[in-house]
Amino acid sequence: MTNTLFSSLFLAVLVATAAFKLWLGYRHQTHVADHRSEVPREFAQQITLGAHQKAADYTLARLGLGRIDLLINAAWVLVLTLGGGLQWLHAAWTGVFAEGSLLHGTAFLASIGVLGALIDLPLTLYRTFVTEARFGFNKMTPALFVADTAKTLALAAIIGLPVIAAVLWLMVTMGAHWWWAVWLFWLGFNLLVLLVWPTFIAPLFNRFTPLEDERMRGHIDALLARCGFRSNGLFVMDGSRRSAHGNAYFTGFGQSKRIVFFDTLLNTLEPIEVEAVLAHELGHFKHRHVTKRLVLMSAMMLGLLWLLSALMATPWFFTGLGVTAQNTAMALALFMIALPVFSFPFSPLMSAWSRKHEFEADRYATEQSSGEALVSALVKLYRDNASTLTPDPLYSRIYDSHPPASIRIAHLQGKTL
Ligand SMILES: [Zn+2]
Repeated sequence: MTNTLFSSLFLAVLVATAAFKLWLGYRHQTHVADHRSEVPREFAQQITLGAHQKAADYTLARLGLGRIDLLINAAWVLVLTLGGGLQWLHAAWTGVFAEGSLLHGTAFLASIGVLGALIDLPLTLYRTFVTEARFGFNKMTPALFVADTAKTLALAAIIGLPVIAAVLWLMVTMGAHWWWAVWLFWLGFNLLVLLVWPTFIAPLFNRFTPLEDERMRGHIDALLARCGFRSNGLFVMDGSRRSAHGNAYFTGFGQSKRIVFFDTLLNTLEPIEVEAVLAHELGHFKHRHVTKRLVLMSAMMLGLLWLLSALMATPWFFTGLGVTAQNTAMALALFMIALPVFSFPFSPLMSAWSRKHEFEADRYATEQSSGEALVSALVKLYRDNASTLTPDPLYSRIYDSHPPASIRIAHLQGKTL
């Protein structure tokens, strides 16, 4: 491969992917707009025309933001690579730390992250305080936003900087087989995060209180006993401090498993519906979806690190992406920037896999709880989250981790009828 050939390939894939995503967005936009005037027949009983139209408008507003985000991102990738941004940043840090040193590499990589976050900031602010607010979802105050950002920055510095330095150090000192060493480090780091997240990190952002509602507890304890599931506590999270969107999830693993409900979810669903939603989450657990995902991610990570080790040995990987400095930190930076450009074709596969898991978890919920209650819970959640009931089929196939509402509910009703 020559430099020019790799540059052209990179540019072609970047432009083609962006064009394809814009076209998909346009399809979705047209489909949602065309179905805006009428509630789909199967939902006519539960969803009002007003709620349906709000979902359409919300979807269209988010699509518009997504389009701007896409263009900014593509431009930023170009500025950093072929535009010479990375090379400039690399040279700028050479005035502060010795080129090629651990400090130089860490500062260089961290500054790319900080600049990326700064570029995302205006759109994040607009999304939170204009779009989400317009549809009544935003509960975040500017003060809370600043506090969240400060905490995130502090965490990124305390955790991120040593991690970057450790990875660079391993890449330099472990010789040709560094990718194994970095992989083992990455695995260990991820396990550690899983372990400390529920008890040390999540409480920095939210308050978790034990679930006390007797009626809810009765339903949930009976379900857990039926499924033979032992947890280390049921908690309610004050999600309503930031957003009106609701959710339920598990955290931790082994003996430290916790079940967490957003307060917003408990406020809108009946106990039997909460039970059905939890049964769905238990279905993910029983089918080992999280473990399967972790195994796949780990295998992919190993393959990617090996790929990086091979690319680092080729000059065209550097020069083809617009940089002259050829060292570990630069290779890592280029890899993290170029990877998303080339990995988009895999996203439909991941989405399809995830949708398969959703069907499996739904089936488990119908067996252990009530399919009917899950349907009514889902319809409420679609309504309250203003999720569109009429996505473009192709768009949904490529992006959606969950099956479209009508298909998912038809599956559930097939089970309950
Ligand atoms: Zn699920």
